Amino acid sequence: MARGYFLDTIAAMQGYVPGEQINDPGVIKLNSNENPYPPSPKVLAAITTAASAGLRRYPEPASDTLRAAAARVYGVDVDQVIAGNGSDELLSMLMRCFVGPSDRVAYATPTYSLYDTLVEIQGGTKATVRYRDDFAIPPALGRQRAAVTFLCNPNAPSGTLVSPAAIARLARTVRGILVVDEAYIDFADVGAASCIPLVQRYDNVIVLRTFSKSFSLAGLRIGLAFASRQLVDGMMKVKDSYNLNRVSAVAATAALGDLAWMTRNARRIQRSRGRLTTALERLGFHVYPSQTNFVLARRANTDMRRIQRELKAQRILIRHFDVPGLTDCLRISIGTPDETTTVVAALKGALRVGA
Ligand code: PMP
Repeated sequence: MARGYFLDTIAAMQGYVPGEQINDPGVIKLNSNENPYPPSPKVLAAITTAASAGLRRYPEPASDTLRAAAARVYGVDVDQVIAGNGSDELLSMLMRCFVGPSDRVAYATPTYSLYDTLVEIQGGTKATVRYRDDFAIPPALGRQRAAVTFLCNPNAPSGTLVSPAAIARLARTVRGILVVDEAYIDFADVGAASCIPLVQRYDNVIVLRTFSKSFSLAGLRIGLAFASRQLVDGMMKVKDSYNLNRVSAVAATAALGDLAWMTRNARRIQRSRGRLTTALERLGFHVYPSQTNFVLARRANTDMRRIQRELKAQRILIRHFDVPGLTDCLRISIGTPDETTTVVAALKGALRVGA
């Protein structure tokens, strides 16, 4: 039962009916925060080499080559890194490690909807606190006596960022583990700091990264977790024997060897984000200050469900969340400059129709 439920939730999260439209090149797909640019040519070359006779062999059980590369790039020891089949797998592994029946799991809402699903599957108890409109960390979050506290930073779907100093204070306040989900941090403005260095100072902090967004590798399913040696040891115990396949591990290692490619694409996305934000504001939306590859835009007295459906009929996919506090919002992933122009024109048309 739990598994069927889980799959339904993933489909709802991604905003598609399974099998529908997602691989159609004629569709402008701005509903899953994928990267509009391809992965580095160095990654594609490494994949081609890996897709050879060597495939008959199992991959490295703990992806040690990738862990060593990540340790060098992010300034930690190799035994402070664990690789996962997407950061979703790491989230599910750490729930299995640290959350038992009726244990409390805390997070501020609205946030990444998978946290809800994972707590339900694990039989834990949700301890949620509402974000205020500024999306700062709500003071009550640290007082939930939770086994695990999640903080998505930058947050999805708001796109907003909080500082490592505020997160360090939270790490000192919470009773259990603090998971900082940095899926979108590479899109933050220059100077915004990661929480990875906090794992050296706080042995209850786990920082998650994914290759699905800034590295353009969502199709290969690769994530990393950074934490103290003890926490990584614990997570290793619940890991599947060969959780990362050979091709993904090689691709991620090559991606870390070409950070310049990733950074260049992140900067292009930041520029399109600025342009989309300005255009949406001109259309009467309030746009939350985004540090990610998507924007959350609110507009009063507008039927957002209708707007989302109308764009879908034009083969433009964006997200609408039918959840409290977000019904008058749309979340739009940042595409190429051309896709940005097209989505703005379509929104303009849809809004005029509804006026
Ligand atoms: N965390 C957040 C906040 C996300 O939005 C996503 C992607 N939907 C993930 C984690 C999972 O990413 P991955 O593709 O690495 O499983």
